[in-house]
Formats: sequence, structure tokens, C-alpha cells
Amino acid sequence: MPAEKTIVVLGAGINGAAVARELALSGVGVIVVDGSDIAAGATAWSTRLIHGGLRYLEYGEIGLVRESLVERNRLVRLAAHLVRPLPFYLPVEGRWGGMWAAAARLVGCEGLARAWRGRRGRGSWTVGMGLALYDLLAAGAGWPRHSMVRAGRAGMPQIDAIVFPRAAIYADAQLLFPERFTVELLVDARSIAAAAGTRFEVCTHRQVQVGRDGTVTISGSPDGGGPFEVRPDAVVNATGAWVDRTLAAVCPDPAGTVGRRLIGGTKGSHLVVRHASLRAALADYGVYAEAADGRPVFVLPFGPKLVLVGTTDIPFSGDPAEARADEGEIDYLLAAVARLFPTAAVGRDDVQQHYCGVRPLPNEAGDPQLPAGVTRRHLLVRHDEAPWPLWSIVGGKLTTCRSLAETTAATVLGRLGVPVRGTSRERPLPGNCSGASRDAALRECCRLAEEAGVSPGRAAAVAEHAVGLFGTRAPSLWQQGVGPSSAPGTAPRGGLIRGVGLPAAAVALCVRDEWAATLDDLIERRLMLSFHDRLSREAIADVAESLSLVGTLPRDRVAEAIEACVARLQERYGRIVPESTTGPDDADKTTFGSQR
Ligand SMILES: Cc1cc2nc3c(=O)[nH]c(=O)nc-3n(C[C@H](O)[C@H](O)[C@H](O)COP(=O)(O)OP(=O)(O)OC[C@H]3O[C@@H](n4cnc5c(N)ncnc54)[C@H](O)[C@@H]3O)c2cc1C
Repeated sequence: MPAEKTIVVLGAGINGAAVARELALSGVGVIVVDGSDIAAGATAWSTRLIHGGLRYLEYGEIGLVRESLVERNRLVRLAAHLVRPLPFYLPVEGRWGGMWAAAARLVGCEGLARAWRGRRGRGSWTVGMGLALYDLLAAGAGWPRHSMVRAGRAGMPQIDAIVFPRAAIYADAQLLFPERFTVELLVDARSIAAAAGTRFEVCTHRQVQVGRDGTVTISGSPDGGGPFEVRPDAVVNATGAWVDRTLAAVCPDPAGTVGRRLIGGTKGSHLVVRHASLRAALADYGVYAEAADGRPVFVLPFGPKLVLVGTTDIPFSGDPAEARADEGEIDYLLAAVARLFPTAAVGRDDVQQHYCGVRPLPNEAGDPQLPAGVTRRHLLVRHDEAPWPLWSIVGGKLTTCRSLAETTAATVLGRLGVPVRGTSRERPLPGNCSGASRDAALRECCRLAEEAGVSPGRAAAVAEHAVGLFGTRAPSLWQQGVGPSSAPGTAPRGGLIRGVGLPAAAVALCVRDEWAATLDDLIERRLMLSFHDRLSREAIADVAESLSLVGTLPRDRVAEAIEACVARLQERYGRIVPESTTGPDDADKTTFGSQR
């Protein structure tokens, strides 16, 4: 038997995780290392759409749109608990606007396209032609074809009908939590490796050094795990917008590899808006429109209570971890909302939080005035000059993470002389459920919640919330045997984290099964409480206490961790966390509990 090959994947974003899973399917050993946490980069800072990318058609990216639509259709089936179809409403001002501009852009004349864009945006003919092609490229998957409608119809977004008298309706999909999707890719990869008896490790919050002979040194972990060394057969650099920085840090031959900049990132900001009439005006549609300057803007339902607005597209060359939404971007996005929904009167105080990330776009000599035109295709770059097999992934979308992983794994394995033994094309995520399997998971969670003391009136919402995050894995939240303190007066009823309707024992599952190591990991990327409208210091304290009970957070550091978490939410996301939630603890509709 030849010795098992081992591949180190740097970066546990959606692409690194998908590549790790794909490699595990071919029976090689995989070690994933992230300097921070799983999905701590662009994956968490995206618009959260699984879409073909309608506007890429104008740039002639037919292949990318086709690939994205195929993947969209696949992910809705294989990760149904997380990826859900979303109807879109695309308002248009006139009939013919944008026709010449689109034609000029298609043949690569961006300057002419901007000159011809005119005062009005794309008209119904231009949009209709684009959507007809979109339907054609998605053909055969059973998705509804687009249609054109007059504005003001009941049950549709209540957008200014004077400015936008018509609209196109089409369908795409939404992934509310790419963070959880990424975690599940790794959970799946671990079970694939366990079944095959191959090595699989995920090392988060660790630094990496690569020696001249290709020995990878992985630093110790925050929970006391010591450093270790491995001599992998290949390294895949999947660190997104950090690709160049990672190369500079790990490659012992800076002359060849680092001289060439691979990433030309742009920063994009989003607002999470809490405004009941704006949410109602969306009528459960996503709105895809043009801002006053012609840039694309999305106004999306984000669970039953919130609205996600994005995004900006500004060249950015600093450390991606330092990118923040600035006041100019917040004003710009609010102005885009006001243009579409003038009567909703959405203001700065309605912004619950914002977030900002850097797109890992290829460093093309594109037009800096129009970064939206830089390709969203991904490239796999082999570094021939490195003394050991090394590849970098450049670009990509959430939507194409699986196909990107498939081609990356095939290339790397081919080079190592390892046959491709399996692909993820028809492989569901561990929590995948819809229809009857979803109903069964809901019923079981409801029963377990009631058994744990949750009132029958509240149990259904708790179950919805749990299944919305964990799919068919949700019932195991109640089997962890660890909850928050039972001190009288502070213990949440039914073992629930106060105000947010999730069992505190979920913390134990995330630590034991999902590599959560810090309070921030749990709040921002496992339990998704950072977005919850009822997040409070009390809720954070419950999570911290559970983290301490499972032995990950020393008891004497609980208070300090809570302070640091509250401060980070304010600094990074502009989120002000109150002491406690107002209103009854058993509100029947949690932020993400109900289906749209
Ligand atoms: C504003 C915005 C909106 C977007 N909207 C969409 C959308 O709606 N739909 C869509 O399909 N795509 C969208 N995208 C694109 C998509 O989010 C990204 O292409 C994708 O998330 C990239 O994933 P990744 O794994 O390559 O990188 P990342 O998610 O950035 O992950 C990189 C990881 O590498 C780690 N890392 C960094 N340096 C090191 C190191 N030296 N060693 C180890 N680890 C390291 C980081 O901590 C991070 O976890 C959007 C992107 C942005 C920024």
C-alpha cells in the first residue's frame, strides 16, 4: 500500500472547507489551518446569496453564470436547511434604458457603456433579455421562469411606483448563514475521513510557518494544545483576500511568488436594518435594484424581522481584517433604500449593525472606477517557484465553492498522482432536510424542548430556530448534558439562552463537534446570535457560562470574555448590546426562527 498523502489547506473559509471535503472524498489526509476561526473572512461578510449573478451576463461571463446556476440548483437540494429559494423583484424605470450600454459592456467597452448609461437605469427590455438568457442557462431545473409585472401589485414589494412603474420577477436563492454552511462542510469532511480511516484535522486560531524543506509548523492552540509539525505532500492556500499576505509569510522564496500580486480586493459593506414597515414592504421578496449611481444594490429579507442591505464596492489594499463600513458607505446604502422605499423613512437609528469584508478578486488591470466589473471567476494558481507543491485559490463566490473545490482537488490530486475517488456532486450536507424530514426534526426538537421545561407555547419557535441553524442535527442539541448555571433567578427557563430561544447546551455541541474555541466563535459563527435582534449581555453571559462549563473558558476569565465580546460587537459591527432584552422572554417569533 502506498503511504497516505497529506495535504494542508490554509484557510477555513467556504472555499478552504469545500476543498478539504473534496480531498477527503478521495482518501487523502487533510489538515485545515485557520489563523482565526472557520468562516471568519469574506464568507461571513458576503451578501449571502446563492445566485447565478444576473449582472455578470453583461460582462460576457456566460460560463460563470451557467456554472453558478447549476451549483445554485444543487445547493438548494443538498443543503436545503440553509439554502432556500428566494423570489426577486427587479424594479425598472423605463423600457429601453441600458440597451446600448449593455451591448458596449458585452464587447468590453466599459468607457462607452458608462457614457451611454444615461440618466435612467436598465429598462424592461434590457432586463427582460438578460433574464431570458438567465432562464435559458438554468433550463431544466424546474425553477420558475421570469415574468414582467406592473408596479403596485398586491403581495409584491411596495416600491416607489412612480419612479419604477414596472418590474421583473425571477428566482434565486439565499444562504442566511454561510458560516454554518462552512462548518457543516468540515463536519462532513470529518465523517468522510473517519469512515475511510484517513487523517483529518481542523486547527483554528493557529499560525503556520513553512520551512525551506516543506515542513509545516502549526502553532499551539488557545486551549493548550501544543504546536506540531507535518511534512505535507502539498499545500493549498485558500486564505481569500489574505492570499498574498499568506504567501509572503509562508513561502521561503519571496522572489518568484510574492513579486506577483494575485488579489485586487474590493471592500463591500452591508447594513442589517430593523424596521418593521420596510420588512413588510419587501413582502418576502429580495429586491435587486440600481442605486442612483447605477451600482447594484440588494435589499433582502434577513429572517422574518430584519432586512439586509448591500453592498458597496470600493478598491481596498489594507489588511482585510481591518475593513470597516464607514459613515459614507452607510449613508450611501441608506440613500439607496430611500430611493426605492421613500415612504418607509428608514434612518441611521434603524441600522441594528453593519459589516464589511473584502472580496478576494483577481488582481486584474480592471477599471478602478468600476470594480463591480472585475470578474468573479476563480483561478487556481500553481506556484512553480515554490520548493514544495503549492497552489493558491484566487477569487470565487459562495455559490461556486463546491465546483471550485472539485476542480481544485482534481488538479492537486492529479499532480500528486492520486486518483479522484469521489466527488461531492450528489452529497448532502449533514443537516440537510426539507419537507417531511424537516417536519420530523421539528417535531423531535419540540418534544425535547418541552421535556427540558420549555412551555408548549414557546417550544415550536425554539424548534424552528434550532432546525433553521442545525437542520437534522438539531435534536442532538438537547443530548449534550451541559447547560447554564442553575443558580436561582439566573437560570434560563427550559435551559434556553435568555431572550434568544436556543438551548444553552448548543454551546457544548459547537465546542465538541464544530471546533468552536472562543466566545466570539460561538456568538458570531456558530449560534449566529450576533445578528439576533434580542441579543443582550445576559444572553452572552449564558453562552460564556456554558463555555466555561464545558471547560473551554476558565471560570475566572468569564467576565473579561463577556466584556471583550460586547466591545468587539460595537467596534466591528456598530452593534450596541443592551444589558437585557425588553419584552417577554417567550416572544413567539424569534429573529431567525420562522420560515419566510
Ligand atoms: C461584500 C461581499 C459580498 C459578497 N456576496 C456574495 C454573494 O452574495 N454570493 C456569493 O456567491 N459570493 C459572494 N461574495 C464572495 C464570497 O463571499 C467569497 O468569494 C468567499 O467567501 C471567499 O471564501 P474564501 O474561503 O476563499 O475566503 P474567506 O472566507 O475570506 O476565508 C479565508 C480564511 O483564511 C483565513 N486566513 C487568513 N490568513 C491566514 C493564514 N495566513 N493562515 C491560515 N488562515 C488564514 C481567514 O481567517 C479566513 O477564515 C461576496 C464577498 C464580499 C466580500
